Amino acid sequence: MARYTDARCKLCRREGTKLFLKGERCITEKCAMERRAYPPGERGRDSRMKLSGYGVQLREKQKLRRMYGLLERQFHNYFKKAERMKGVTSELLVQLLERRLDNTVYRLGFAPSRISARQLVRHGHFTVNGKRVDIPSFLLRAGDVVELREKGRSMPLVEASLEERGRRELPAWLSFDRESFRGTMMELPTLEHVAVPVELQQIVELYSK
Ligand code: SF4
Repeated sequence: MARYTDARCKLCRREGTKLFLKGERCITEKCAMERRAYPPGERGRDSRMKLSGYGVQLREKQKLRRMYGLLERQFHNYFKKAERMKGVTSELLVQLLERRLDNTVYRLGFAPSRISARQLVRHGHFTVNGKRVDIPSFLLRAGDVVELREKGRSMPLVEASLEERGRRELPAWLSFDRESFRGTMMELPTLEHVAVPVELQQIVELYSK
């Protein structure tokens, strides 16, 4: 399956914002955006080019797509799905992205980044409502329960991530029980609770052309 091989920090530098692709490193001073907050490449430091309208729309789309680690085709499919749903397309797009199993595993704190969460899901470490699910794009519904299976509970990556999770606030649409390694999607996430550093309307305009 196709996947990104680019250095992750370069993606943040290209987009000019923290996309939080590397777990704990992202909240330390080792973060590349703390030290080199300009685009990569020879002319990165000098690039002050004014973007066209299309350029701005493209960059906003890339930011959101890269945050969730999706390929163009996958991302576009989510947009088309959001468009077919009843409601505000930009909000529904974010909701669909947030409902992915790999994202929820990350949000619950089982993994330090969405990329690690995806690996854990692929390796079959989780159940949804008691059934093993190894599909990162599996879409959760309100009331669904995600549980880490026994063999994954003592993994150092999981333990360290859960410890770090304990220091942060849990997203409002989720609940988590540390004893049973179980998290529940209490309600569907909304833009009121999900903070994405992206101008969503620009993405709608880009795909509406
Ligand atoms: Fe982005 Fe994290 Fe790298 Fe910072 S450390 S540039 S937030 S991936």
